[in-house]
Amino acid sequence: MRTMTRALLLGVACLMVIGLLKVNLGGQGRGGREQTAAPGSQKEELSETYRGSQRDNVEYQKIPPFKVFDDLYYVGPGFVSVWLVPTTQGLILIDTAQEPYVDHVIDSIKKVGFDPKDINYILITHAHLDHHGGAARIQELSGARVAMLEADWQFLEQTPANPNRPAPRVPKRDMVLKEGDTLKLGNTAMKFSWMPGHTPGSLSIEFDVHEGGKSYKAFTFGGPGPRGGVQGGQQFVESANRVAKIQGIQVAVSVHSWLSSYPFPNGGLLERAQTLAQRKPGDPNPFVDSASWNLWVKQVQEGALKNLEEEKQKAAKRPS
Ligand SMILES: [Zn+2]
Repeated sequence: MRTMTRALLLGVACLMVIGLLKVNLGGQGRGGREQTAAPGSQKEELSETYRGSQRDNVEYQKIPPFKVFDDLYYVGPGFVSVWLVPTTQGLILIDTAQEPYVDHVIDSIKKVGFDPKDINYILITHAHLDHHGGAARIQELSGARVAMLEADWQFLEQTPANPNRPAPRVPKRDMVLKEGDTLKLGNTAMKFSWMPGHTPGSLSIEFDVHEGGKSYKAFTFGGPGPRGGVQGGQQFVESANRVAKIQGIQVAVSVHSWLSSYPFPNGGLLERAQTLAQRKPGDPNPFVDSASWNLWVKQVQEGALKNLEEEKQKAAKRPS
């Protein structure tokens, strides 16, 4: 058993070194130009600046939108992702950010050349305000269907408003997704999974993205960090294990540029966006990175187990 663990650890260490080498090589550039984000860093140094002290700095958060693949654009503020998926029959939006960033999201969609009125579906990865807070407004202007898993519609409907803040606009129950549902719009197909643990109805999405005639397997893990005590922790362990079983994921379509519970190895979204912006013809797309994905999933699985143990200990200490 011990030999196996050691072999596994060695394997992980090797993968990490390979990951570091790969990003360092990719980051050198042919003109000797250096990147501002530390290449090969295990942290999400740039992405991290969008939380913490800058979390409420509205102007700082308004980052320019960027194209990642032919059919995937980032149109969110810096701290929370909003993904635009253009299809041959209209647009799909994954998450919406929240006020006061919804105008920025709408402007960003226009800036990358699309009409927000053409949005057919708004998919909400989980019913936390930073992800769904713009859905009602974007639905109004587009007539799009707002889709969530049943458990998160319930969770949203039962979440009490913060008495110290003006009540935010929340979407009204619309399209209810179920485990295993698929969505086809034009040339795009998505497969949905119910992966609770962050919220009761966190939604994961499998779909393909394209560039230069090539197809890559993309995945959105809708609630990539445990919440909700022992029950949430247990669900999260199961969700993490399910994610680990999905073969061949090449592109992480993350719900935040940074992932506070488990940082994404070799750079978060915004570090990769910088590398992408400096890419020379023939260079690989830095978002295609199954090695970092596999490292990340391992980290999530281990973290999920550790979190569950801690939650159990906390619960045991609590007077009944
Ligand atoms: Zn959340």
